[in-house]
Amino acid sequence: MHTTCDVLIIGGGPAGGLAALRLAKTGLAVTLIEAQPVLGERVCGAYLCPAGVALLDELGLRTELTVNMRSLLGMVLVSPKRNRLQTRFPSNARYPDFGISLRRPDFDHALLHLAAQHGATIRMGQRLQGLQQTRAGWSAQLANGETISTRLLIGADGRKSRVARLLNLATEPWQERVALHVDVPSFQPTEPFGEMHVFPDGTYIGLNPVGPHTLNVSALSDPAELQQTTAMEFINRRTQASEHLRPRIAPLTNAASVRATFPAAASVRDVVTTNAALIGDASGFLDPLTGEGIYQALWTARALTNEVSRAWANDTALNASLRRYATQRRREHRGKRWCCQAFQAIIRRPRLSNAVHDLLSLREGIGNSFIGMIGNIYTPGQACWNMMKALA
Ligand SMILES: Cc1cc2nc3c(=O)[nH]c(=O)nc-3n(C[C@H](O)[C@H](O)[C@H](O)COP(=O)(O)OP(=O)(O)OC[C@H]3O[C@@H](n4cnc5c(N)ncnc54)[C@H](O)[C@@H]3O)c2cc1C
Repeated sequence: MHTTCDVLIIGGGPAGGLAALRLAKTGLAVTLIEAQPVLGERVCGAYLCPAGVALLDELGLRTELTVNMRSLLGMVLVSPKRNRLQTRFPSNARYPDFGISLRRPDFDHALLHLAAQHGATIRMGQRLQGLQQTRAGWSAQLANGETISTRLLIGADGRKSRVARLLNLATEPWQERVALHVDVPSFQPTEPFGEMHVFPDGTYIGLNPVGPHTLNVSALSDPAELQQTTAMEFINRRTQASEHLRPRIAPLTNAASVRATFPAAASVRDVVTTNAALIGDASGFLDPLTGEGIYQALWTARALTNEVSRAWANDTALNASLRRYATQRRREHRGKRWCCQAFQAIIRRPRLSNAVHDLLSLREGIGNSFIGMIGNIYTPGQACWNMMKALA
């Protein structure tokens, strides 16, 4: 079977879903293919930062997509020597002072549903297998033998993007860590705060209160650590060694379904090529530590679709618009990328990590400014300036 469309999107996560919705709204013939027959739980902390909340507000989507999902007022940071600091997202005219604890399957599904309502063709359980460049764009081969011809191809297929590899844009990930995820019951009612617990060996566990008595637990580790133990033991050893976690989380048993993924990072040498672009994790992902993958997925989808819908009329304009998207993406994420790489270096050095935590704990304004940067309310430069003012 052979079909054609204006835009073919590979992947039905937040990046692909939002791109499909926005391009379908402009009247383009959009087809999205998603490998999973039904979207389920993912290896994800599911925290949406305040800038992500603002982006949904700006697009008029927050109410529809996050109904009955909990707000997060800030983050708790726990150092390797187990000092605890509770921060709050700062308020600011542009951004709300809260994030949202998403239920990923509901959020992702609602986005695809909306895209379909606006005319996008959503094809679940279909996997991209191969790509061929044509005079008019691209021809995609699906695992079931079908081909789809498209003028614009969008790769939104996550960290292990097949599109990025087939377009020869993928490079070796900048670091190779294993990510684990499990939802666990909490003995105590959950508080509206995300949590980041850094351990002396440079591993960390993030917690997100996804229900009144349910915590989303995400853990990151070097692969070598997990060669000596199971994922369940890895998590238990850390939760049960911490006085902040032991009273709230029971040791996991064999019944727990711990999901794992490797590598947790993705790198690309470019995010566009002729008549094709990458968005979301497919366009590069550093590490979950700063919790902005979903924001980045939504941001890249919005940036690309803004450019494309303005330039659809002719091929020269279309490819120039893809370049503009690539430039915007690089500029927007440069500062945060640098910070994320610096944090990775810090958490691998427990003494430095403790010292940074002590500094953040000196005054309320310092910790809150830091978390404002993590939540993308402040740029790294603004956050540093605010921290210096709070110190003075
Ligand atoms: C441990 C961990 C914790 C995290 N915690 C957070 C957090 O708290 N907050 C946050 O903002 N981000 C977090 N992230 C990152 C976040 O999960 C991602 O950035 C986000 O899901 C990216 O969305 P996406 O749409 O780009 O890709 P995805 O959500 O990965 O969606 C890609 C889709 O493409 C489909 N696909 C793949 N290959 C094919 C193919 N060949 N054909 C068709 N379909 C295909 C997949 O089935 C999938 O549905 C975390 C990541 C990890 C690993």
